[in-house]
Amino acid sequence: MGITSSRPMSIRKSQTVGVLGAGQLGRMLALAGYPLGIHFSFLDPSGGAPAAELAPVMHAPYDDEEALVRLASSVDVVTYEIEALPLKAVESLAQSVPVCPATSALAVAQDRLEEKRLCERLDIPVVPWHPVASPEEAAEALTNLPGPLLLKRRRGGYDGRGQSLFDDTVSVEDAWRALGNEPMIVESVVDFQRELSLIAVRGFDGVRATYPLVENHHRDGILRLSLAPAPRVTDGVQRTAEIYADRLLQHLDYVGVLTIEFFEVAGELMLNEMAPRVHNSGHWTIEGAETSQFENHLRAILQLPLGSTDARCPCAMVNLVGDIPLLAPVLHVQGASVHLYGKESRPARKLGHVTVRGRNWEQVWDRLQKTGLAIQPDELRACEAVGVEWP
Ligand code: AMP
Repeated sequence: MGITSSRPMSIRKSQTVGVLGAGQLGRMLALAGYPLGIHFSFLDPSGGAPAAELAPVMHAPYDDEEALVRLASSVDVVTYEIEALPLKAVESLAQSVPVCPATSALAVAQDRLEEKRLCERLDIPVVPWHPVASPEEAAEALTNLPGPLLLKRRRGGYDGRGQSLFDDTVSVEDAWRALGNEPMIVESVVDFQRELSLIAVRGFDGVRATYPLVENHHRDGILRLSLAPAPRVTDGVQRTAEIYADRLLQHLDYVGVLTIEFFEVAGELMLNEMAPRVHNSGHWTIEGAETSQFENHLRAILQLPLGSTDARCPCAMVNLVGDIPLLAPVLHVQGASVHLYGKESRPARKLGHVTVRGRNWEQVWDRLQKTGLAIQPDELRACEAVGVEWP
């Protein structure tokens, strides 16, 4: 954890960051950047995007040439808050303005096949998997890989979308058709103990820093609860995660925040996927770390020194999904911070999050309970895991 070597850099004149995507991640980037005097300009095809309240948003498709030229001419550096971007358009943008993280990282993260291959090349363990080009090949994988299996689209899946379980009882053809008729990957369903993520950041000069691992709980494929720093993480597991992150950061000559999601299986880590951007499982860093993931991403891409990634205290981050609960009880609770993204309610949509801090896990759980936020039985098990009985 912490920062590896450093050499001094100077803070230059006020700079403008162009951001592809104006969702909540872009909004939180802007919120982190204003104290440093950074300006922002967004490009997003959708109207009413969360960042629009903070900075100008050009409404155009991501591959709109005119919009890209305008963006490139008005900013010092471009970054992105989503990876579902047309790669060619971002590559052409990179001809006229620095794009961080580089498009090579984006290309890998956009394609599960490339991601797995890179991990294997860098000796980073992944779930047993196989590329498949047809339903027949997928069916054959059933005999080669330990089942049950998940069929996953190579591109475009997020929040659990773009994947389908199949085994002896579910037809491969049905799963294949449901996901679209294109090459995919199959992978074994892993009986993991828990899901952990690592937020790492690397500056222009190769300085690297990592936050403590975070424990994540999903429901219906959507992140609901993060515990940070993840309880019961041995130094060895943290170190292993950092070594894997280092290999990726160095190989990709990466600049900015990189998020890596792991499965913890019998004390070992298997990489599930990576995101070349700030991440939902890093939201706790706004109040819970010395420097937030958003600020550190900006520092990295603007060639500023990175800030400390040390945690200040234990935190639970709860996503507000689908609708926003009564906020008065939450705001009454000491150590609870509310973030709303200015989005319309819609099922399965992330509308905001609440971070609850405490001196220790007992206090975090006590405060979390007082917020009245709905915590599900599955997530309650996380409470037992940190050795605190839910009252
Ligand atoms: P992904 O889109 O790959 O991040 O998957 C979304 C969620 O599905 C993950 O956070 C896991 O909870 C679950 N999942 C994905 N792949 C596997 C797997 N191979 N075995 C078990 N659960 C998985």
